[in-house]
Formats: sequence, C-alpha cells, structure tokens
Amino acid sequence: MKIAFYDSLSSFSPPTRAVVPFHILLKPVGAGCNLKCDYCYYPEDQLPRPKPMIKEMLEPFIRNYIASQPTYSKEINFVWQGGEPLLAGLDFYKKAIDLQQKYAPKHVKISNSLQTNGTLLTPAWCRFLKQHNFIIGVSLDGPKEIHDRYRLDKKGQQGSYNAVLKGIRLLQEFDIEFNILTVVHDAVANQAQTIYEHFIQLGVKFIQFQPLMTEGSALEHQFTLTAPNWGKFLTDIYLHWKSQRHVGNVHVMNIEHVYSQYFTHVSQTCVHSERCGTNLVMEAQGQIFACDHQINSSHHIGNILEQTPLSELVLNSIELPFGQNKSTRRECQSCTVKAVCQGGCPAHINSMGKNKLCEGYFQFFNTVMAPLRKYESSMRGVQQWRQEIGF
Ligand code: SF4
Ligand code: SF4
Repeated sequence: MKIAFYDSLSSFSPPTRAVVPFHILLKPVGAGCNLKCDYCYYPEDQLPRPKPMIKEMLEPFIRNYIASQPTYSKEINFVWQGGEPLLAGLDFYKKAIDLQQKYAPKHVKISNSLQTNGTLLTPAWCRFLKQHNFIIGVSLDGPKEIHDRYRLDKKGQQGSYNAVLKGIRLLQEFDIEFNILTVVHDAVANQAQTIYEHFIQLGVKFIQFQPLMTEGSALEHQFTLTAPNWGKFLTDIYLHWKSQRHVGNVHVMNIEHVYSQYFTHVSQTCVHSERCGTNLVMEAQGQIFACDHQINSSHHIGNILEQTPLSELVLNSIELPFGQNKSTRRECQSCTVKAVCQGGCPAHINSMGKNKLCEGYFQFFNTVMAPLRKYESSMRGVQQWRQEIGF
C-alpha cells in the first residue's frame, strides 16, 4: 500500500531492525545542480529537471532509518549528496537535524556527511555545518586550469574554480574539517603531482581520488579511464606523498585505506569490501536502489512511501548478486593483493566479466603493500609498523 505525503506518521508500522548496519545515501534534490560538469554521472537530459525532495518525506525516512539500524549501532550516519545537495536549502537541513534529535536514542551518536561542489557555501551555511559537525566533501579537480576544463557553470561557459575556492576558504575560516574529492580520468592521468601539490598549497589535509564512472554525461562525452592510467595516477600520488614525508600530516584516503585494511582486514569503503549491498540510495521522490551506481530496474528495491520496512529492503539488497559475488571472480582468488582489493566495484565490470581497473588496482596496491608485507597483518603488526615509521 502506498501512503500520501500528508498521511499521519502513525500509518507506518513500527520498523523491524536490519541484521547489519546500513547506509542510505540521500539525494534531496535528485540530479538538481547549479553546475554542469562534463562527466556528471547523471545523464545530461536529467540535469535541467531537478525534482526536490518533498519535505514531508523527511520524517518517515529519518524515523525509519534510525529505528531500523541494528540495536548495537553506536553511530548512525546520514549521507547527503546530489546533484548539489545545498540546493535543498538551509531550512531543509535544519528540519532534518530537528528530526534526527527527536528520533535518535540517547546512546546513539548521529553524524552527517555532505558532498558538495562548494560553490553555494556562505557564512550562514558554515555556521550551521560547524554547529552540527557535518563532515564535508568538496569536489575539486586540481588547479584552475584543470578544474575549469570540466566543471563548468550551468550554461557550460565558465569554470567554477573561483567559486569552489571561495567555498573552501569559508570552510577553513570556520574551521570545518573537509576532504577534497577528485575525479580521475585519462586526460589527467599524468598530472598527479601537479594536482596533489595544488591541494597542499591550499592547505588541504584530507584527499580522496575517485575513478571516473563511465555512466551518464561521462559516457555521452566519451570520457575514459584505462586501468594503466588509474594505476599510474595513484602510484604517482603515493610515491610523491611518501617522498614529501606527508605520512600522518596529509591524509590520502586511497593510501590510508590500504594500510587500515591490510592490518585490520576491514575495508573502509564498499569498493574494497568482500561484499557490498548495504550502501543504498534514496532518490528525491523516495525510490530506493541498492546502490548509487546500480540505478536500474534490477536494483530498484522499493520506495520509502511504501510500507515495506527498511530492514526488509536492506535484506533484499544484500542478497542481490552484484554485492554477493563482487570478490568471487576467478582471477581474484589467486591475486596477491586480494586482501585489500576484493575485486573492486561491480559497476566497473566489463563485458568480459573483469574489473576494468584491475591492472591499475594491482599496480597501486602492490606498491603500497610492498613495505607492509614484512609485518603481520594484525594489531601486533600495526604496532610494530607504527613504531618503526614513527607514526
Ligand atoms: S556497486 Fe560499487 S559503489 Fe555500489 S556498493 Fe558495490 S562497490 Fe560500492
Ligand atoms: S587487482 Fe584485479 S585480480 Fe586482484 S583482487 Fe583486484 S580486481 Fe581482482
């Protein structure tokens, strides 16, 4: 049965709890964005028609999301993404925080992460984000000449670098911790050092590199990323970061996640987990998919406006083959970096059934793991390693 947005919340039956912790990434304005990046993963024809999330959807979602997490959950994270999620407006997020406070049990910490292009940040936004400890990700591709080539304003005429930089300066002024998210594709594969050094000049401390997803506009504009280029880019970053002795000072997530996974056997990301399927996404009109990169009918698992408990949707999602089988491909079983790769993202599987970035992952992981291999992959090993490198 479907409910209308204006139905009383009492029409929702009490949610049962999921067997594992899960995330549902939220897209409060769907594909709505104030920029027009050439490699946006939304198809271009969706871009001019943002459909904002109806505010009344927030309460059923927040109540169910909190109540459906396993009883042992100590922290529940809300992830806001777009399009450009700041387009939902400050009042929308104020309402979200009120509802989180209303429904969160006392022993549970609520956290919020928001991925933005940074161009709409103002002092009022920053005061709010600081007050509620939002974890911010800003999309920036490197120096102006690189960034402005691909990340353009809505008319597709002017680069957005200056506006992003203004946003970054505000975050720094308000002492808000943020990380930079950079998309890597073939055209920038030789510029790892230039890009990295630019971030250092800006005073950035947390950086994450993400391989291009060949979907949406990126596919239409024929952007590509080959495995050797992905491997070269990440390896160049690693060698440069190491030569600069930035360990412990500049946090490159791609490198730190390898360290952490090598010693703890736990991945910090879905991409390098043994299985995936617990990172769902809710689009602005309430449709829930098993993953942001599996937006298709086989991975559409429900709608928040139906009365199916979220715990049941999570169960359906984790049973789907894409997540169950991600690390079981034959070539991965004898691979010497499997412990930290686990087959990569199923959205990168090519028509031959192989991960398109496989060789690149291998090169990077093999290089980062080489000095680690003399340590046991255990807590004892991490202590020895830290003592020796003074970290
Ligand atoms: S398909 Fe890829 S992005 Fe989606 S949950 Fe799995 S690993 Fe993560
Ligand atoms: S590097 Fe390639 S073969 Fe090795 S685990 Fe990753 S995807 Fe599998």
